[in-house]
Amino acid sequence: MTKINKEVMYKMVRAIASVREEEIGCDDCFEKVDTFVDLELAGKEAGEALPLVKDHLERCQNCREEYEALLTAVRAMSEK
Ligand SMILES: [Zn+2]
Repeated sequence: MTKINKEVMYKMVRAIASVREEEIGCDDCFEKVDTFVDLELAGKEAGEALPLVKDHLERCQNCREEYEALLTAVRAMSEK
């Protein structure tokens, strides 16, 4: 059988690398999570506006807890 040629390999590696570039880290998430919460509370599609933040929140428990705490706090403030 034929071996996987180098060109195909490089393409695969590049595809994986480009996916990684679209992920954000906790620092980036932390910077944007307040905007995410604002959009959410404004009844907008926060997940569509900031898909990378949404993606990170789904994968990262720390940031999800941060997000939920912030959401609760902001909601409590605006309900006064
Ligand atoms: Zn995180």
